[in-house]
Amino acid sequence: MTNSKTALIRGLRLRCPKCGEGRLLQKYLQVRESCPACGEPLGHIRADDGPAWLTILLTGHILAPLILELEKRQSMALLPELALVLSLAIILMTILLPRAKGVFVNMIWASRQKSSAE
Ligand SMILES: [Zn+2]
Repeated sequence: MTNSKTALIRGLRLRCPKCGEGRLLQKYLQVRESCPACGEPLGHIRADDGPAWLTILLTGHILAPLILELEKRQSMALLPELALVLSLAIILMTILLPRAKGVFVNMIWASRQKSSAE
């Protein structure tokens, strides 16, 4: 039986919560209908706005200290600073969003396993 910690780690790795082998997502953010390795149905799990919320939360907390430090030092002109911060934000969100979706989908899957076992 897969526990929540294992499902969380597999979600970060974008793998099936049950077997940890099959890829969880296709086309960047679309959850596969079923795991290609073990056949576990996954397409019915809806993460809704959870992954976007987590991605915004993490990106904001990572970039806020950088923005404050850049403003304190006044070492960069406004446009290069804006270009730097926006580029970092886009890169971070592109990396974090699928992993946040993997975490949410796998944790929802794990919570359903737990409640159906009780
Ligand atoms: Zn699987």
